[in-house]
Amino acid sequence: MSVVIAIDGPAASGKGTLAKRAALAFGFAHLDTGSLYRAVGMAVLRAGMDPSDAEAAARAAWDLHPEDGILDDPALRTDEAAQAASKVAAVPAVREALLEFQRRFASTPPGDAPGAVLDGRDIGTVVCPSADAKLFVTASVEVRADRRLKELRGRGIPAIPSDVLEDMKARDARDSQRAVAPLRPAADAFVLDTSALDAEQAFAEAIGFIGSKTGLSPRGLKPRA
Ligand code: C5P
Repeated sequence: MSVVIAIDGPAASGKGTLAKRAALAFGFAHLDTGSLYRAVGMAVLRAGMDPSDAEAAARAAWDLHPEDGILDDPALRTDEAAQAASKVAAVPAVREALLEFQRRFASTPPGDAPGAVLDGRDIGTVVCPSADAKLFVTASVEVRADRRLKELRGRGIPAIPSDVLEDMKARDARDSQRAVAPLRPAADAFVLDTSALDAEQAFAEAIGFIGSKTGLSPRGLKPRA
């Protein structure tokens, strides 16, 4: 039986970095489920269709083959892809189409890994409700917009602070107000607010929680200086 770690939270909360590092620390496979929705959103845009068009979005989701390396496409990291993702993600048929791949990844992680870390919005509530450990990583919208701004500028992408904040609020609203699988912490999730934490502090909290729920120790971690 695979050990399953669910990490949910809003955009730019730091959940992706945490999930990647936690997977590495415990020797687990990692799935960034947001990239599935981004891939569907981009496929719809590339077909010249509107991501809010439920039929076009559902078709793109059923046609998606995540095993083919599509999730590594750098175009998925753009804001255009993020906005399209949050539109297709509100379509119930899209969520249904992506469910099996995510559950299979969790139960039989690639590379014979003994466990899987999945990060997203609904992992602890819908995809893997019986996950061994559930984390809900969050931060204030201002802190998250500021992190996103720094990340964009770091990648040489010019960005206007007020636009980034507005985009973040729009995506938060779409993700938490949609009818299917809205963004919310599972009842048994550990809520980790990273507003006042640096990456190392957040990681230490997450690792401590996962260790306490699973009884596992992270491997090869250097003691903090
Ligand atoms: O996490 P990321 O920012 O890449 O996610 C992009 C969008 O995909 C989110 O805004 C959300 O609408 C959607 N998503 C989702 N459920 C997930 C992961 C992502 O609805 N499990």
